[in-house]
Order: sequence, then structure tokens, then C-alpha cells
Amino acid sequence: MKNNSSTKKYVYFFGAGKADGNESMKNLLGGKGANLAEMAGHPKLQLPVPPGFTISTDVCTYYYEHQQSYPEKLPLLVTNALKSVEKMMGKKFGDTHNPLLLSVRSGARRSMPGMMDTVLDIGLNDDTIQGLIRQSGNEHFAYDAYRRLVMMYADVVMEKAAGIEPKNGKGIRKLLDEKLASVKQAQGYSSDTELTVPELKTLVKEFKAIVKKVLGTPFPDDPYQQLWGSIGGVFGSWNGKRAIDYRRIEKIPNEWGTAVNVQAMVFGNLGNDSATGVAFTRNPGTGENKFYGEYLVNAQGEDVVAGTRTPAPINAYSKNSQSDQLETLEKLMPKIYKELNTIQHKLETHYKDMQDIEFTIEKGKLYMLQCRVGKRNGVAAVRMATDMFSEGLIDATTAILRVAPNQLVELLLPMLDPAVEMATKPIAKGLPAGPGGAKGRVVFSSAEAVEWAAKGEKVILVREETSPDDIDGMHKSQAILTSKGGMTSHAALVARGWGKCCIVGCSDIEINQETKSFTTKDNAIVKEGDLISLNGTKGLVYQIDMPLVATDLNKNKSYKKLMHLVDQIKLMGVRANAETPKDAAQALSFGAEGIGLFRTEHMFYGEASEQPLFLLRKMIMSKTATERTNALNELFVYVKKDIKDTMEVMKGLPVTIRLLDPPLNEFVPHDTEKLRRLSKELNIPLALLQRRVLALEENNPMLGHRGVRVGISHPDITEMQVRAIFEASAEIIKSGKKAFPEIMVPVTCSVNELIHQKEIVDRVYGEVCAKMKMKNIPYLYGTMIEIPRAALLADKMAQSADFFSFGTNDLTQMSFGFSRDDIGGFLPNYLSQKILAEDPFQTIDQEAVGELIQLGTDRGRKTKKQLKVGICGEHGGDPASVKFCHRIGMNYVSCSPFRVPIARLAAAQAAVEFGKINK
Ligand code: PEP
Ligand code: MG
Repeated sequence: MKNNSSTKKYVYFFGAGKADGNESMKNLLGGKGANLAEMAGHPKLQLPVPPGFTISTDVCTYYYEHQQSYPEKLPLLVTNALKSVEKMMGKKFGDTHNPLLLSVRSGARRSMPGMMDTVLDIGLNDDTIQGLIRQSGNEHFAYDAYRRLVMMYADVVMEKAAGIEPKNGKGIRKLLDEKLASVKQAQGYSSDTELTVPELKTLVKEFKAIVKKVLGTPFPDDPYQQLWGSIGGVFGSWNGKRAIDYRRIEKIPNEWGTAVNVQAMVFGNLGNDSATGVAFTRNPGTGENKFYGEYLVNAQGEDVVAGTRTPAPINAYSKNSQSDQLETLEKLMPKIYKELNTIQHKLETHYKDMQDIEFTIEKGKLYMLQCRVGKRNGVAAVRMATDMFSEGLIDATTAILRVAPNQLVELLLPMLDPAVEMATKPIAKGLPAGPGGAKGRVVFSSAEAVEWAAKGEKVILVREETSPDDIDGMHKSQAILTSKGGMTSHAALVARGWGKCCIVGCSDIEINQETKSFTTKDNAIVKEGDLISLNGTKGLVYQIDMPLVATDLNKNKSYKKLMHLVDQIKLMGVRANAETPKDAAQALSFGAEGIGLFRTEHMFYGEASEQPLFLLRKMIMSKTATERTNALNELFVYVKKDIKDTMEVMKGLPVTIRLLDPPLNEFVPHDTEKLRRLSKELNIPLALLQRRVLALEENNPMLGHRGVRVGISHPDITEMQVRAIFEASAEIIKSGKKAFPEIMVPVTCSVNELIHQKEIVDRVYGEVCAKMKMKNIPYLYGTMIEIPRAALLADKMAQSADFFSFGTNDLTQMSFGFSRDDIGGFLPNYLSQKILAEDPFQTIDQEAVGELIQLGTDRGRKTKKQLKVGICGEHGGDPASVKFCHRIGMNYVSCSPFRVPIARLAAAQAAVEFGKINK
């Protein structure tokens, strides 16, 4: 026999202070089984768990390896365990006087909610039901249980597990449900509880007749046949379609298998001294350390979930607007409540985390049916982690690991009211480019956004895609929605930088500029001025005016406490991508330790950009060297001020200033009207200007005359910028403050480019020192690594660089050969068909781009041991990428200001998970 099955235990008992298993055995017993064993058997818990046993995942593995059969000794093991359950319950399975009923439930290592099957009330037949009626004194309850058993068993065991394909797509459960509905309708009942005993009796008979007719075999009366059928049904459901699909999505290995939990039934629907409920040891919505939960008197677990009756609060704290009139469990059953409260305390102290618990009260006796670590939102996660640390329940590293970095987003931005959102159907879905929620009136152009906003309207800018020309309108909008573009498209980049809600690549909508409207794929029409709401965290669009819930980070004491711990633990620096004093101040308030990317070109877009843009255009269009020098000299004043203002805010923290990057033709107007205006302003004939614009045009500007290439063609452009940087720094230092610029050359592919530009830097440095009468001005000289060739030649690049900053937006673009602005057309398909697991512009493709980064870092440091290495692509704010950066020994990551807290937390988690990395 395979698998040395004779030595395996296979069946693990739990109940009344004893258990063969414990919490650490999740792989073998599944999450539910392991926690039931822990609750029942741990010396410090000894909780009232209905006795039962877990058939281990080993049996599931055996079952599938042996043509769906069981190990030889399993029946005996089950019989023995069942005897112990009978003894503890004082009841006997299959007995006609005092019958024990059983539940059979699945339980995988990781929770797979609703994906596998359950059978309840096992052991009932026409004889044992008499015993149940005697025991409970409640005939209605007994027949209700019986009809539920017939339905569940027929569905799970006789149809699904037997592999019977329903005729006309209508399964047995549906057919029985229809029968039930027809009886209710004939009698005018609105709920199952109104059915009379004779009606239930008839229903059970009719159910059985339908089962036999449709499935070809009768419902088994033998309790043992019911039990083994149910065990097989649950093992079979591991390979049901729903479970297989779920595992594929959640990346749960098929080999894990499920365990099966067989447990004595207890009933919360035996009258007004019975109840069932769900509770959390702390409030999962706010994190407050208060016991929070709901219950229903005279009900079964599924009634709480089904939502047909409004659950009552367990205590005054748990009341809400719908339930505040209902009696609390604390008032109704004070002794039981006290016992439950003691248990929840015990459980939380024991597990050292918030627990989600299920309980049932049967005729005045409390039973614990389940406990597991409870899900929580971001706000609650931060509060629980820091409170538990302060209470001494967990240590600092555990507290840090308790919050998923992306959960912090919920603390930073206003969001759509979750309750309203849950009850509303979205009209379209796109890529979640800028998190948070927003609402406003739809406009279709930047100019209209500016105009409407000036009138005090809150607007949402809807475009196919955006360009730098749209910047004003984007700024004035509450949110941006584009039908095209990917996560690093212009709209996404800008919105993320501003912490603005944004959805891109929303191909569900089709924009009609003529009628000023968009149509969704379900034919909803949204016109200019209509109100919509966006959930930028999930990429969802709603056609209603949804309330927003605000969040104020500075008032959040728990957040501050968490970040204090984070800073003590993290090893990697976190900087921000910022270009204005306002953004810099924002970044500082979020804890940035410098600016990792100051994109100089920002000053030519948006607010107050008119004059510098005019001068830049003048410079671009100049024909002679003198013309250009004059224009550059005029521009210099603006560039210097721009850099100086931001450096002053940063108070001596490093500011990485990148020399001009985009292709020059991006800055010249292309429509005739604007060109005519420029021709007047520059005093150049229109035809000549048009010829010059045409000469600048390129087929592929992203790979064209841009970045360092412009600085090599026109050294005076580099010179002007470098002079501005040094003079700004010198003036700040002379005024008694600190400045630390890092000059960064973009889009390099050869060390010769760096050597060429360095000569300019050295010369200008000497000139500025002399002019300002300074011995030295601190600075570093370095390069972006955005081209695979530069990464491969990093040892050479490091000869002329003090630092590298990986521009992973372009590095990803050039490694994949995917245009970062055009992935909206195919990426969703790539992701849904699993050709790529993840959007490589959101999270670093560690397999290939990551290898280039690691190799570039290592080769660079071979040449220069102290080489400073960072990242400034959008990935710098993605937690998985931040952890990768830590692992390969980077000095810092840089991301948009609003992602700084997220990157800080991810960096601290990386330090906990991977330890210190030698740089
Ligand atoms: C990059 O390419 O990763 C980068 C930061 O530069 P930009 O996005 O400005 O091209
Ligand atoms: Mg780049």
C-alpha cells in the first residue's frame, strides 16, 4: 500500500477538554479542524465545543490516489471516534429513542468560503425522528431538520458527488426549493417558519419522492450510509468546479486536499432559550477593543447569514441603526453572555489576534462552533496592531506584520461609503490607478473641467487618455477616468502623484465627444453634467452620487504609533518623487527622507507654467546659438527658482534632480492656432515655425531625441540646468541652511554619455564655486538606469556615477517591449488568460526586470563599493517591489508622496522577513 498508510493516524478526536490535534496542525486538520481541536483540548482553553473528530487531509490525498476509496482501517477509526462522541453527548447515532445527529463539514488549510460542501442533521430517518421529537419536545423543529437533511444530502452527495449532470441545468436543490416555494405560495406564507407540522411531514415525503424520481435512487434511511455518503461528498467537493476555480485564482495547490469534520449537532432553533450568533473579539470596522457581534434567538447559523431576519446586537456596543430596538444577548441571557465574554477574552489572549467566532446556545447551554483570525479593514488593522502592542499582547515586529501595506491607503484618502457601495451595482470597471473615492459631475475636456470648477462645481474628467496639456483640468477635477492607457499612463502617473482618485484603461466605456456622453457596455448612458462616483482603489464606476467618508491621518494616533515602530525597524530609506514645494512638504509629512526624483520638466506644465514654457519654446525654436543662449539665460532664472524652492523645503535632505528628460517636440504646440500665437510671440514667420516643428517630429519619440541625448546635442541645455542647481544650492547654504542636490542624468546607455555630461558638471561646479566664493558645494552625480544596456554595463556606468536610480517604468517598457502608454489594449487579456500573472508596470517583474536590477546593482558595486542605489519608477510604492528592493540591497526606494507610508511599512516588513542585507 502506498503512503505507509498503516502507520497514519487519519482520525483526530476533539471534545470536552481533550483533543488529539492542535492549532499548529492546520496542514493535516485544515483550519477549522485545527482550531476546534485547540479550543476543545488546549489546557488553557477547554472550551465547550460539541465533540467530534477530524478526518485528516491525508485521507483526501489517499482518496484521490486510490480511485476514490479509503484506507482500510478508516471505518474502524471512525467507528471508535464516533463511540467517544456518543459517550460524551449521552446519545447514540441511529438510535430511535435518543438519537445523536451529526454535521459533516469541509475544512482546508486555508479558508475557501462557500466553495466546498456541508451536510447537517445526519442520522435522521422515519424512526430516529421519533427520538428527536421526544428529546426536543418540538415536532416542528424535528421535521424542519429532516427536510433540510434530505435537501442537502440529495444535492451534495446524490447529485454533485455522484457526478450527475442536472437536466435542463436545474439541479435537485433547485427542484426541491421550487417545491417548498409552491407550498408556501399556496398557503400564503412568507417564511419557512410558518409551515405547519403536517405540511412539513408531507414535504419530507414529497422531497424523497422527487429525489428518487430525478436521481434514480432513494434517499438512504440508514444513518451510517448517510454518514459515509456525506464524508465522500465533502472529499468529492474538493474537486468540484467551484473549488477548482477558486484554488486557481487564489493559488491554492491541488495537492493540499481538504479535511472532513464530523461533529455532534447542536441546535440554536430549539425555542426561545436557544440562539446562534457570530462575534468578533474587537470591532473589525474600527479596531476598537470592544466585543462586537450579532445573534438570533431560535435560529440556525444559516439564518444569520441569509439575512431574512435582522440579527440583534450581542451587547449595547454592537447596536446599529437597524438593530437598536432589539434586545441584546447581554440583557436576554446575562449568564450566557458573561460566559461568552470570558471565552472571547481567553481566545484573544491565547491566539494573540482578533478572533472571529461562531457560537450556538442550545436550551440555555453555550457551544463554540468555530474560531479563526478575523478579517478587518485598514483602519481597524492599524488600530488593533498598535493597541495589541501597547497592551503587551504582541511585540513590535508582529505588530508591523499585522498590517498589509496597501491597507494604509484606506487611512490616507477619502473613500466611498462602504455600506452604500456594497448595495450599488457598478456600471463599469477599469484599472485602479489612483486609490480612494471621489464623486462629481462628468466633463469631457480639460478646459471644461477648469471652467466648471471655477464655478464651484466638483467635476470628474473623463477622457480617452490624458496628455500634459490636460494638467490644469486634471488638477481641478475630483478624479480622472480614462477609457485607455495603463497603470503608468500619463493620467495614472499624475493622479498617483497627487493622491487623486483615478481609473484608467476603462474599456467598458465608449466616449462620444460629439454628444458629450459615454456609453457603458450595458448601455448605460452618462452625459456631461451627470453625477458619477468612482472607487479608484478597485477601479469601479457608479452612476450615483455616493457619500464619501473622510480620513485625517494626522489625527490617527494608531497610525503614528505604527510608523514610529516602522522607522525603528526598517533599514532602507524611503524618498518621494516630488517637484513642487507643496508636494515636497506633503512628502515630508508622510515621512519621506529625501526626494528621489525631481522631474525638472514639471515646471512647463500646469499652474504658473506659461512664462517658463514660452521661454522653453523660444529656446527650442531658436535657429542660432546666440538665440538659444539668450533664451536659456532667461529660462535659467525660472529653473533656479523652481529647484531652490523645493530644496529649501527639504532642509538639506537629498534632492535628486533629474536633467530634462522628455523629447523636445513634446513642448511645442501642434495646432495651427497655437502655432500662430507662438509665431507672433517669437517673431518667427508661421511657415518657418511650422517647418521647425515638423523637423522635430519623430516616429517613436519615446526612443528618440530625449534625455541625455538632448544634453549631448545641446550641452548648453545641460549647462544651464547644472548652473541653476549649483547656484540654488550655494544660495541656500550661504543663507545658513542646508542643501544637498544629486544631479541625475536620464535615459543613459553608455558610460561615455556620463563622462561627456560630467565634464560640463565639473566645469560649471568650478565656476559657481568661484562666483559664490565657496570652497565646495556638496552634491552627487549619478544616472538613471532605464535601458537594459545600461544595466548590463553597470560596472562601466559606475565609473562615472556616485549613484544609480533604477527607472523601472522605462526599464520595464524596454525589457518587455511593451509601450507603457498603450498596454490598456492588451494587458487585461494577458492577465485574464494568465499569460502574465501581474501588470509589470505595477509590480516589478522579478523574473527578468528584477534580474537586470540585481545584476546592475551588483556590477555597479563591484566597481564602486559605496555606490548608492535606489529606484524611482512607479514600483517604488508597490509593497512587493519594495521588499524586492530591500532583498537585493538597495539604499532607498522613491515613490509618489501618498505612497511613502506604504513603502515605509513594506520596507520594515522586508527587514523583519529578510533580515539585514549586506550592502
Ligand atoms: C522611469 O522611467 O522609471 C522614470 C522614473 O522616469 P519617467 O517615468 O519620468 O520616464
Ligand atoms: Mg523614464
